[in-house]
Amino acid sequence: MATVQPGAYEPTGIPVIILKEGTSRTAGRDALRANMMAAMTIAEIIKTTYGPKGMDKMLVDALGDVTITNDGATILDKMDVQHPAAKMLVQIAKGQDEEAGDGTKTAVIFAGELLKRAEELLDKGLHPTTIVSGYKKALEYAIQMAYQIAEDVNVEDKASDELLRKVAISALTSKAVHGAREYLADIVVKAVRQIAEKRGDRWYVDIDNVQIIKKKGGSILDSQLVYGVVLDKEVVHPAMPRRVENAKIVLLDAPLEIEKPEIDAEIRISDPLQMRKFLEEKENILRDMVEKISSVGANVVICQKGIDDVAQHYLAKKGIMAVRRVKRSDMEKLERATGGRIVSNIEDLSEKDIGSCELVEERKVGEDKMVFVERCKNPRAVSIVLRAGLERLVDEAERSIRDALSAVADVFRVPKIIYGAGAFEMELAKYVRDYANKIGGKEGLAVEAFARAIEGIVETLITNAGLDPVDMLMKLRAEHMKPEGKWIGIDVFSGKLTDSKVLGIIEPLLVKVSALKAGTEAATLILRIDDVIAASRRKEEEKKEEKKEKEEE
Ligand code: ADP
Ligand code: MG
Repeated sequence: MATVQPGAYEPTGIPVIILKEGTSRTAGRDALRANMMAAMTIAEIIKTTYGPKGMDKMLVDALGDVTITNDGATILDKMDVQHPAAKMLVQIAKGQDEEAGDGTKTAVIFAGELLKRAEELLDKGLHPTTIVSGYKKALEYAIQMAYQIAEDVNVEDKASDELLRKVAISALTSKAVHGAREYLADIVVKAVRQIAEKRGDRWYVDIDNVQIIKKKGGSILDSQLVYGVVLDKEVVHPAMPRRVENAKIVLLDAPLEIEKPEIDAEIRISDPLQMRKFLEEKENILRDMVEKISSVGANVVICQKGIDDVAQHYLAKKGIMAVRRVKRSDMEKLERATGGRIVSNIEDLSEKDIGSCELVEERKVGEDKMVFVERCKNPRAVSIVLRAGLERLVDEAERSIRDALSAVADVFRVPKIIYGAGAFEMELAKYVRDYANKIGGKEGLAVEAFARAIEGIVETLITNAGLDPVDMLMKLRAEHMKPEGKWIGIDVFSGKLTDSKVLGIIEPLLVKVSALKAGTEAATLILRIDDVIAASRRKEEEKKEEKKEKEEE
């Protein structure tokens, strides 16, 4: 290993110290190979989880907490990768997750494949710069072709719902939800349709508008879509209504209680009359508070703080429903959903602070009761109550649902789809290979390698289905040479070549394009590094300890 120690060059006999003591430097091919190896290792780990027949990973953290998941972003996040080059790949995957919400594994596997092919080209004597420029050209061409290969969708047309449902189903590859894919896909499409917003001629979808409430118990098929906000709380008093139609809602972040004085005050009451007066005073204050709420026409109070028994009693007498100790984040959601305003001082409460919705109702979900605030003023408030028998299952279901929500939202953003199960990749690789022949020379070799790397994604899908990748790839290539073979892919469940269009494996173009971009970015970033200068590890640990000490102080 060509590790150059600082101060190693001594032309005049006097050591020239450039780097700090303990700094290590790995330069040239060794640095490159080490980085490539680290990144490829990450890709290899992810590979086995790819596609509907992919395996799950069990991740155990330092505290012994176990996560079982098939979600690419989660696996990479929990692996706690140390190597800087490997970390870059994790970063790229995160970027993909943020941009498209799905296709993280595709991006990572693609990066790994690009590096594997680059290794072969390096062995053949190609310079990394040539490979990088070839990859960039190939990416540009591939994106251009991807747009041509893809088909248009008219999301405006309600008939596209069936297609969007299939997009959701194709994204729900995780085993935790396999049996309920159709059911969840329905919920996902309805939710996205509800929150999608058209501005000019473009659609905007912010899937953060979809609140996911996880509730252990029941089965995934008990999950439900709610047009509104769900509070994991009960109505405070048994005499209050459990159902309020045409709700006028007060959002309060002050307690409906007499606050205790800051200092310990002692009140000595000798006269029973005085005692009564004191209690009456307290009652009066609370009654005034309730009176104020009722005077602005409210029939529901949602309070971030506590509600005194006496106040509860008065509220119940007025037929006002009340919920207490609601999370701040939920209060803010309610503010957006109902068009109301969170009030901190009851005296300032006025009619314009009141939020509204068609129905507030307490319902039983499994063993617990929850309050549903439905059909709000702002129709873009949507919730999904997720149910599953085990905590881990609910968590994994949430991750899958988020992928599916993102995938459907992606079709709104860029209304183009492709057919998956390897079909799109095989078709794209064919065009990129033609392009490589046109370019020729050394750069052409890199473009050809890019085409092979795209096929590498399909190879992974085939391998995970327990099929022979060499044989299958040959057959797929042959099919794609025919004009009617455009969408031929592999049905991983039957193990046969099938038309993905007939199979109904539909995916957003956006996911594929951003995965190609992310993968190329990661690979070229790594290929351009020829020098790794690392500060001494020991120093780093000392720094960490220093930091810890500071924190403890
Ligand atoms: P990613 O993180 O990249 O989304 P997934 O594990 O979700 O990875 O797998 C996505 C791949 O699975 C896509 O390429 C898609 O075409 C493929 N896929 C989904 N459903 C099927 C199916 N029934 N048969 C074959 N391939 C499928
Ligand atoms: Mg996916």
